[in-house]
Amino acid sequence: TIEFRDVVKRFGGHTVLDGLDFSVDRGERVTLIGPSGSGKTTILRLLMTLEDLTDGFILVGGEPLTHELRNGRRVEVPAKRKKQITRRIGMVFQQFNLFPNMSVLENVTEAPVHVLGMKKTEAKDKAMGLLRQVGLEEKADEHPSRLSGGQQQRVAIARALAMDPEILLLDEVTSALDPELVDDVLNVLREVADTTDITMLIVTHEMQFARDVSHRVLMFDAGRIVEDGAPEMIFTAPRNERTKTFLRAIL
Ligand code: ATP
Repeated sequence: TIEFRDVVKRFGGHTVLDGLDFSVDRGERVTLIGPSGSGKTTILRLLMTLEDLTDGFILVGGEPLTHELRNGRRVEVPAKRKKQITRRIGMVFQQFNLFPNMSVLENVTEAPVHVLGMKKTEAKDKAMGLLRQVGLEEKADEHPSRLSGGQQQRVAIARALAMDPEILLLDEVTSALDPELVDDVLNVLREVADTTDITMLIVTHEMQFARDVSHRVLMFDAGRIVEDGAPEMIFTAPRNERTKTFLRAIL
């Protein structure tokens, strides 16, 4: 489970998340929708500890991610423990963020070898299996710059899966792609959704995909959740005016 309790995030004087409360169950796939600037990316970045939270708590698997209160005193989670928690979380970014100086295969084996201490041969076998799964086995020795955006993104997915994450965060993973490359990436993710029980937090503008894979949709506006429900409900019979306006604008 992931729990956000009264989470506040400010950048300078600008409040991006304004006392956010929600939780995601183990194995649940939740899509975050809402207008640009409503704080969706910030939520994923907070979970990866790529941002510091201003106030409130985030718990992963019941454990505090950044700090806890003991006898009313704020106690930071040790850096080592934080890393152990974030190691169980994989993230795929809009801009792929592959290591440009490594081959495709090295991109996928890097973290299992250097973070988990997996044997190179074992990491390689696993990586080749994942590259096969994303349809890129024959690109293993190429450099990322030789691949299309869609192929690079599929490598990024394989790289995240190589760590056997319990949680996968997908941040607008198709937004930077040419339209004809989007489906290959979404189909890979559909398969991941169908064949694993990885908890997923998905930020996307691909509403059909969101509808197909998610158990729940959260609609954000101005750093708050304005609607929370099953995809069939949110997409066909939204109750909140802002959800209605938002969906009308993008569908
Ligand atoms: P988008 O769909 O555009 O990515 P979003 O809902 O993901 O939107 P966030 O990226 O979380 O929104 O950003 C929320 C707000 O926080 C925006 O107004 C953004 O300008 C601001 N913001 C994000 N990161 C920073 C930062 N490092 N410094 C200052 N402001 C930031």
